[in-house]
Amino acid sequence: MPVSEPSNASLPESDETSQRNTCPEAGGSPRPTPTRTVEVPCDLCGRTSFEVIATRDRHGRPLQTALCRCCGLVRHAELPSEQELAAFYAKEYRLRYHDEWTPSARRVMRAWKNAARIHRQLQPFLPATDRQRRSLLDVGSGIGCLPKLFEQTGWDAHGIEPNEGFQAYGKTRLRAPVERADLQSMPTELRWDVVTLVHVIEHLRSPRAALADIHRRLQSDGLLYVECPNLAAPHAVRSRLFHYAHIFNFTPVTLTWLARSVGFEPVMRFGHPDDANLQMLFKRSEPQRVGFDDRGYRTTIDALLRAQPRHYYARPFYWYSRCRKLLAYAWEHLTANTFVQRLERRLADPPEPGSLGPSAARAA
Ligand SMILES: [Zn+2]
Repeated sequence: MPVSEPSNASLPESDETSQRNTCPEAGGSPRPTPTRTVEVPCDLCGRTSFEVIATRDRHGRPLQTALCRCCGLVRHAELPSEQELAAFYAKEYRLRYHDEWTPSARRVMRAWKNAARIHRQLQPFLPATDRQRRSLLDVGSGIGCLPKLFEQTGWDAHGIEPNEGFQAYGKTRLRAPVERADLQSMPTELRWDVVTLVHVIEHLRSPRAALADIHRRLQSDGLLYVECPNLAAPHAVRSRLFHYAHIFNFTPVTLTWLARSVGFEPVMRFGHPDDANLQMLFKRSEPQRVGFDDRGYRTTIDALLRAQPRHYYARPFYWYSRCRKLLAYAWEHLTANTFVQRLERRLADPPEPGSLGPSAARAA
């Protein structure tokens, strides 16, 4: 669906006082829920006054999740350090969440098909340019299916992934252009045509810092594609929503506000409004100061209040998507091994010289 931009999501304000005046908290309708002051300010609006909306994660372990009373952004009340996150994603994340050091055939098949879907849906928006080669950087690339697909269609595509086992599998078995690296370690003189963040932004300590970094690394007309869980989608039970790896939980409103404040204009939102994931395409623009009306807070609160099993399971879309998912799982069980064997054989042919890495991404 084309993105219809919120009418008052870009009100320029010049200072902290002005922002406070546009914050719904200043209007004063505090909810009777526990509040706390967080140590690290809100990544979207910069405020520190949060409501505590959960004290345990989906497995019942202690984890305090909080809602910004100004803009409606949801995140962990206490953020892990960059060092803790780097260690977690290098070795622990895939083992703890997927019980895998290297990906199973089903995971490879699913990743390849997801990448093919993203590759397909981005085609109408990709730059038709006279540059010698178009370039793509996939941040948090997993086994590197997305850069591999772009590479196969002539792009100078490159993936970066912190996890050792998944990156090694993609590099060796799929010959994917994926390296163990993070965004900060990439050369700053390269300018990319497209950057993709597929189920990555919610894992970061500061999505704002990452988007600002990407903004500097994109061509002036570059594109940013973001896919992440949608907190505003229907959910059955609120207590199942939150867990350690997802530091942030975005709605369409908070993701759009964050992107605009960093300098990205929304171009397209893909998929159904009830999809569990946001799929949004942005174009590089100029940073805008956002006026925070009550839609951010209200959208989040409404989503949390709607999280009731009776409503969730009564929706036709639930049964439609559930049936599709069950059929897909059954198909994966039956065909994944053969699919991956054929995929690995097909990709075993050596790529053309010079097609790996960001070598052809234009220097600034
Ligand atoms: Zn906020």
